[in-house]
Amino acid sequence: TVRVRFCPSPTGNPHVGLVRTALFNWAFARHNGGTLVFRIEDTDAARDSEESYQQLLDAMRWLGFDWDEGPEVGGPHEPYRQSQRMDVYADVARRLHEAGHAYECFCTTEELESRREAARAAGLPSGYDGLCRTLTDEQKAIYRAEGRQPILRFRMPDQPLTFEDLVRGTVTFDAKDVPDYGIVRANGAPLYTLVNPVDDALMGITHVLRGEDLLSSTPRQIALYAALADIGVGSGATPRFGHLPYVMGEGNKKLSKRDPQASLNLYRERGFLPEGLLNYLALLGWSLAEDRDRFSMEELVAAFDISKVNANPARFDLKKAESINADHLRLLQPEDFAQRLVPYLQAADLLPAEPTAAQLELLGKAAPLTQERMVVLSEVVDMLGFLFVDPAAFAVDEADAAKALTADARPVLEASIKALEALADFTPEPIQAVLREALVDGLGIKPKFAFTPLRVAVTGRRISPPLFESMELLGRAETLRRLGKALD
Ligand code: GLU
Repeated sequence: TVRVRFCPSPTGNPHVGLVRTALFNWAFARHNGGTLVFRIEDTDAARDSEESYQQLLDAMRWLGFDWDEGPEVGGPHEPYRQSQRMDVYADVARRLHEAGHAYECFCTTEELESRREAARAAGLPSGYDGLCRTLTDEQKAIYRAEGRQPILRFRMPDQPLTFEDLVRGTVTFDAKDVPDYGIVRANGAPLYTLVNPVDDALMGITHVLRGEDLLSSTPRQIALYAALADIGVGSGATPRFGHLPYVMGEGNKKLSKRDPQASLNLYRERGFLPEGLLNYLALLGWSLAEDRDRFSMEELVAAFDISKVNANPARFDLKKAESINADHLRLLQPEDFAQRLVPYLQAADLLPAEPTAAQLELLGKAAPLTQERMVVLSEVVDMLGFLFVDPAAFAVDEADAAKALTADARPVLEASIKALEALADFTPEPIQAVLREALVDGLGIKPKFAFTPLRVAVTGRRISPPLFESMELLGRAETLRRLGKALD
C-alpha cells in the first residue's frame, strides 16, 4: 500500500510551493487509496516556532486536506512532531556510529573552509575530504584533549548512486559529488539529513514526493536507507522518489518562500477559494487533460498520476490563477457564495461578528449581483460595501465624484429624486422606467451619461452592481437620502 508524507518545517508563513507539495502528496495518497502522514519537522529550535506550526495546521484545514496520521489524528507512529522524537534519533545515531556507518569528525569550520578553498584552487572536488574517516582512538583522544567536540558524519559509499525518479526518470550522482555529510551536530542535535530519512523509514513511507530543491539530498538519503536497513531500522525498503518541478515567479526567477507573491496568507486574504487556488497550483507541473484547466478536487484525485508530472520548471501566473478562481466562484451555489463573502465583509467592519438575520437576508439578495463579475472574494468590500456601511459613514469615492457629480449632474439628481419619490412600486423595472422617462425622455440625456451620477451618488462608485437592483436593495428612503446628499 501507498504511504506518503507531507513533512514541512514550521518556519515562517506557509507558501504556495509548500501547498503544491502537500496537494500532490494528498492527491497521490487519495488516488491510490493510500495513507497520508503529516509530520512536523521541528528539530531546529532556532528557526521553528509554535506560531508557524499553528499556521500550518490552520492552512491544511482551510485548504480542505485530510491526513490519516499526524497531529490531532494520531496514528501508530506517534509522536508526529520530530521535536518529541529526539530519543529515537539519538538511538539511531548511536547505532549508525557503532556499526561504522557514521564516524566522529573533529574538523573545525575554519579547517573545513580552508581545505575546501585549496581543493577548489587545485580543481579538485570541494566536498568533505574524508580526513576523519579513519581516525584512531589515540588521534580522537588528542582532539578531545584539545577541547574539540566532534560532529557525527555519515560515511557515503564510494560508488555512483543511481535511482529512478518518478518524475525525472533515471538520475545518477557521482560519488565525488556526494561527500560524507553531517548527521548530528557537536552539541548532539540531530540534523534534517538524519531525522527525515529515519522517520521515513520508521513510518514505512513508500513514496517521497517533494520539491526539486531537495534532489541533491536524495542520493545521501538512499545511502542512509541502506545503512538503516543494515542496522535494522524500518522495513529495509527504500521509498521511490519523485521531485516536483521548480516554480518560477516574476522575471523567471525561482519563486522563493520569502517572495510576497508566494505567501499563502496573501491568497486567503485576497479571497481565493481553496478549491480555486488548489486547482491552479495543481497546474504547476501537472494537467488533467490538455484542454481542461478547471477541475474539482474529486476530478484531480481520480486522475492524478505522478508519472505525468512534468519535470520542466512551471511558471506561476497570477492572472491565470485569478481566472481559475473566478471560474470556481461562478460554480458555487448562490447560498454558498453568499456565505463565503461573510468573513470578508467582517474583516472590513461591514458586518459584525454575529450578523443579524436581516443583514444575511440582504447579503443573500445582493450576492447574486456580483457572482458573475467577481475574481476574488475580497472584492465584495468594494462591490457591496455601499449596502452594508453605516449610512452615517457612507461616502462617495472622491475621484469618481469629481468626474461624475459635476454641476451638470444637478438637474439629473433633482429629476431623479422627483421621479423616485412619486414611484409606487420601488422595484428595478419601475425604477428603471421612471428614471428613463425623467432623464432620457425628459432631459434628453443619453442613457450612458444619465445614470453615472446616480450610480456614484448611490453606490459611491462609477463601477457598481446593476444600479436599479442596487437602489431596490438599499431602499427608497436611503436611496433618496444619498441622491439628496449628492446635491449638497
Ligand atoms: N522538512 C523538510 C522541508 O520542509 C522536508 C523535506 C522533504 O520533503 O524531505 O524542506
